[in-house]
Amino acid sequence: MPNGRFAPSPTGALHLGNLRTALVAWLCARSSGSRFLVRMEDLDPMVSRREHEVGQLRDLRDIGLDWDGEVVRQSERFGLYRDALTRLVDLGVVYECFCTRREIFEATQAPNGGTSGVYPGTCRNLTQPELGDLRLSGRPPALRLQASAREMSVVDRLVGTKTFPVDDIVLRRNDGLYAYNLAVVVDDHEQGIEEVVRGDDLLSSAASQMHLGDVLGYERMQYVHVPLAVTAAGNRLAKRDGAVTLSDRQALGESGADVLRRIAFMLGFVNGKQVQHPSELIEQFSIAMLPTKPWIFQA
Ligand code: GLU
Repeated sequence: MPNGRFAPSPTGALHLGNLRTALVAWLCARSSGSRFLVRMEDLDPMVSRREHEVGQLRDLRDIGLDWDGEVVRQSERFGLYRDALTRLVDLGVVYECFCTRREIFEATQAPNGGTSGVYPGTCRNLTQPELGDLRLSGRPPALRLQASAREMSVVDRLVGTKTFPVDDIVLRRNDGLYAYNLAVVVDDHEQGIEEVVRGDDLLSSAASQMHLGDVLGYERMQYVHVPLAVTAAGNRLAKRDGAVTLSDRQALGESGADVLRRIAFMLGFVNGKQVQHPSELIEQFSIAMLPTKPWIFQA
C-alpha cells in the first residue's frame, strides 16, 4: 500500500498553517487509501525538543488527525543515513567542502557569481595540494553531493511543473550531523512514501532531492507543495503574529474541532463550517480544489 506522510521538525509549536498542511497531507493519503505516517525531523539536537514533539502530536490529534504505526524519529535512523552516504562516497560523488556560510554568501553575491542560494562550487575541483592545506587548517569539512544535473523539473500535482537548479547539497554538515536533504530523501524511500505533501517553501529543494534520489537509484516521489500561511503583510506566519498555534486558540476558548472547521472552510470545503472530524472531508477532497495562493491568516 502506498504511504503518505507529514514530517514536522519538533523545534516549536505547529502554527495553523502547519496544521493546514498536515490536514492536506492526511486527506491526500486517506482519500487514496494510503497509509499516513508521521516522521519527526529531529536531526539537530540543538533545536529539536521532545516537548515540542509531544505538543505537535497532541495538536494533530486534537484536530482529528490520526496516523499509522509508530512515529519515526530521524534521530534514531543515523545508520540509514550513514549507509546512504557510504554508497554515495563509493560512487565517487561526494566531496569535502570547507567553505563557511559567509564565504558562500559572498561568492554568490559576486557580479559573476552563481545563482543565489545554490552552492557556487568553490570546493568542487580542489587540487590535491589545496585539499591537503585545507585539511591541515583544522577547519572541519561538510560533505557535498557532486550533482551531475544542472536543473530538474519538479512535477507537482498542485503547482504544476516547475524547473529549478540542482544544488551540490550538503549531505553531512561540518559539525558531523547528517543534513536534512540526505535524511529526507533516504527516509521517504525507506518508508515507502509515494507522495510528499509539504509547504511550498520546499518546492525548489525538491529538484535537488529528486536528483539525489536518482543517484541513489530510488523511485521518484509525487509532490504536492501546499502554499504557506502568511500575514496580511505577506510574511510567513510566525509566533509573534498573535494567536497562531492551537494552544493559543484553545486559550481563547476554541476547540480542536473549531480550528479544524476554520482550516477546512479556508480550504474551500462546502461543509467546512459544520465538520466535526476530518473524515467528513474525504469525499469532497481533491487536489484541484486546493487554493494555490498563500493563506492570509488573520488571528
Ligand atoms: N521538516 C520539514 C519542515 O518542518 C518538512 C520536510 C518535508 O516535509 O520534506 O519544514
